[in-house]
Amino acid sequence: MVTANQAKALPQASDVFLTYDLLRDLGLAECPFVRDASEISRCVEEIARVRQGISVVGSLNRDCKLLNCTAILSGGNAAASRMADVFRQAINSNAAAIFLAENVCERGHPNSQDILRRKIAQAGLALRIPLIEDVIVTPTGYHSRLSIREIATDTYRPVFARIRSCRGTKETVAGWTCPACLSTNIASLDLPIAFKFPDAHCFAATCCRCDKFAWISSRAEGTRY
Ligand SMILES: [Zn+2]
Repeated sequence: MVTANQAKALPQASDVFLTYDLLRDLGLAECPFVRDASEISRCVEEIARVRQGISVVGSLNRDCKLLNCTAILSGGNAAASRMADVFRQAINSNAAAIFLAENVCERGHPNSQDILRRKIAQAGLALRIPLIEDVIVTPTGYHSRLSIREIATDTYRPVFARIRSCRGTKETVAGWTCPACLSTNIASLDLPIAFKFPDAHCFAATCCRCDKFAWISSRAEGTRY
């Protein structure tokens, strides 16, 4: 018999986690590669048929091997997700990056989704485990929530950046001007080498001088979207 006080302590819908630890269960050699939004959508395609709001966080190593996946059953309240829960498995497995995948259940006000995405991207920068993709998966396909078209509705409008890959180190480096303090930033984006980003993708960044957050993209200038 569960008393009223005990019932209050039971997990709520927003606290349900299911983790699949591929690194532990399969070993690194058998962990699948996940190198773009299409491969993300393929590995989580079942969530499109779930009627409840569900977010999946995947952890990748530098070579884009999928180390683990955690499904967060958010009960339509994804904004309640704690950063510690989003990054727990990535930190435990020493991941190089995370991605998010979500189904299309009602998730509250679009603005709260923008804020949550930004908070996760900011936490990823602080932890040096960048959020590299955020994919909506539906029964008929997928689309990226980090495309310039999606970020254009965010209160933080995308900033133009010169993004290039260094030949020797293969690091991705971005040069951009902070809209808040007008400082020039040239910094590595800390991205897994093998991940393929589309042209109009947005990356999270913070200004080296004023520490303000920005979405940066090589398509932010002179692009109609
Ligand atoms: Zn700045």
